[in-house]
Amino acid sequence: MSAHKPSFLVDAMLGNLAKKLRLLGYDSKYDSSSDDAALIEAGRRQRRVILTKDEALTQAAGKAGVQWVLIRGNDEVEQIAQVAQKLGLSNFAVESDSSRCVSCNGRLIPIEKIRIFSKVPPGIYERQQKFWTCSDCKKIYWEGTHFEKLQEFARKLNQRLS
Ligand SMILES: [Zn+2]
Repeated sequence: MSAHKPSFLVDAMLGNLAKKLRLLGYDSKYDSSSDDAALIEAGRRQRRVILTKDEALTQAAGKAGVQWVLIRGNDEVEQIAQVAQKLGLSNFAVESDSSRCVSCNGRLIPIEKIRIFSKVPPGIYERQQKFWTCSDCKKIYWEGTHFEKLQEFARKLNQRLS
């Protein structure tokens, strides 16, 4: 991973892309309500790269000095490959300690198993040893079966980029 890890501002149509980037450890804000001007202003202030399918928005962002990546197509591997190629990112990985909360973009903090006893299904509590909680919305995470699928996604992405 490069020393400078970009953060993103993801345009309305790309909610799934925002979620994947969070899982891959990228600070990715998603705002479905912003108009273009508000989005560009937020990108400028927070130094976020705008990800959008809207070409007019990229032109306006460029004029305002805000970095952008124009996203094409609906395949998530391809979409993130487009971001990676433009910004020079590589070696994607899904690691719970550096992931962001899928729901709200908060940080995931390791939490002692005993502290989440009543908050997860009993089967999960018995099988899993490591848990994380979101710093903001307090959602609880563990490395379940979805986790292997996500790692497979990261592998595909890295292969695509190599
Ligand atoms: Zn959260």
